[in-house]
Amino acid sequence: MQKAILEPAQNIPVVEEADVIVVGGGPAGIAAAVTARRSGAKKVVLLERYGHLGGMATGGIVVLIPHLSTGSQIEQAGMNVEWLERLAKKPGGVIGTSKEDVGSSKPELINLWKKYFSFVWADLICYGAYVDPEILKIVLNEMVEEANVDVYLHSWGCRALVKDDEVTGVVFESKEGRKAVLGKIVIDCTGDGDIFASAGAAFDLDPNKDIRNCMMALVYRIGNVDFQAFAEYKSAKPEDWAKKVQKIHEIAGFRTLPFPTPRNDVMWVNNWIPGRDCLKVKDLTAVEFEVRRTALPVIDYLKKEVPGFNESSFLHDTAPQVGTRGSRRLKGEYKVIYDDIKQTKKHDDVISVVPAIDLSVSKSATHIPYRALVPEKINNLLVAGRCFSSDVEANNWTNLIPHCITLGQAAGAAAAIALDSNVQPRKVDIKALQKTLRSQGVYLP
Ligand SMILES: Cc1cc2nc3c(=O)[nH]c(=O)nc-3n(C[C@H](O)[C@H](O)[C@H](O)COP(=O)(O)OP(=O)(O)OC[C@H]3O[C@@H](n4cnc5c(N)ncnc54)[C@H](O)[C@@H]3O)c2cc1C
Repeated sequence: MQKAILEPAQNIPVVEEADVIVVGGGPAGIAAAVTARRSGAKKVVLLERYGHLGGMATGGIVVLIPHLSTGSQIEQAGMNVEWLERLAKKPGGVIGTSKEDVGSSKPELINLWKKYFSFVWADLICYGAYVDPEILKIVLNEMVEEANVDVYLHSWGCRALVKDDEVTGVVFESKEGRKAVLGKIVIDCTGDGDIFASAGAAFDLDPNKDIRNCMMALVYRIGNVDFQAFAEYKSAKPEDWAKKVQKIHEIAGFRTLPFPTPRNDVMWVNNWIPGRDCLKVKDLTAVEFEVRRTALPVIDYLKKEVPGFNESSFLHDTAPQVGTRGSRRLKGEYKVIYDDIKQTKKHDDVISVVPAIDLSVSKSATHIPYRALVPEKINNLLVAGRCFSSDVEANNWTNLIPHCITLGQAAGAAAAIALDSNVQPRKVDIKALQKTLRSQGVYLP
């Protein structure tokens, strides 16, 4: 048996009493906290373990927000559109297709955007963007400040306080030691389900499958490049590029590919590392070392062999947050399964419409039902973001940044309605929730 010590009991100061506590300030958490306030919750506390907001979209340097539309319909709307419109007002904040061009088949637009991965879908312009992570951090700060969310950065949510299967608050750890926030409703947006797991909610976990959302990463960026030259080379010589991609994978030891950013002179490098468990410190540490060990040899090869990179291209930065694509997934009142995606299943309690991404998987959008955010048993608790209730294959197609934003928006609105009508989140009036979401620009059929 592993050696153990008994931690002495201690009094934990209660620093806040909130209507809603959101743990995790990533895409889902920002949407949940801001929407809870905008929908009427009086005091909303947001706990985030790092020093910035945005989760993978900023700290993870995951700068692509793709596939917001099918045909001419923007299905991932609401706060997604708000993010992109706010970013567009800041110099260098975003590059992407415009709302007005969604669904267009004009050759000049198709030719312009097909250089960028994922902006042309079924020969039509798709709504999406590459964002600057530093500008996004600023935009998200502005959004939570305007909404009067009480933000605690550098505050790591360690466990839920639970009494008789009802969550009553969250204990968090910071430089000030261990403290507690009490709350009427807690929304777990940690991505990893840290809070629902500690509350005793049931969950699924598949760290070792050979599938995108079971692979970890450490993203980095390369500066002093010429993306347009790279894109022209790729489209002129796809076979040559395919051979070089193989060589890059060999050098890195795992799949590694460069992508655009809002700047022509900076590219981000995505990677896919199998066989690592994002809930194990040893594996998290190993990923940080594996990528940093191989980044310079990869860049050296790109500089010598690939048009668009040159002698003075350099390692711009590595992401401050290790990349976790999938982790614990709640067992909720409804579990979205892969067959739902393939059969484009519809639900009366739909709160997010996820566009089809791969035509070989499904031809049209899938509904995410509100029940996928509600734990089977524990009360006063909602879950949003990539850890929502889904099987691993379904989660792979429904856990992208825009999807997490719409799930967060739904959870925030539901929490405010539950408080206002004095019911448990699982008893929220679905029609009232859908009406609130529509009034906030969310697309629902
Ligand atoms: C390398 C990589 C590439 C990807 N590529 C794309 C892509 O191109 N496009 C796309 O749309 N999606 C992509 N994804 C997926 C997408 O980034 C995530 O699914 C999405 O960001 C999940 O949002 P979230 O809010 O659920 O979780 P996260 O973005 O993980 O945010 C969770 C937040 O909670 C905080 N947190 C965690 N635990 C605690 C705790 N205990 N206490 C306090 N705070 C905590 C974290 O610091 C973080 O801020 C990619 C993911 C990775 C890793």
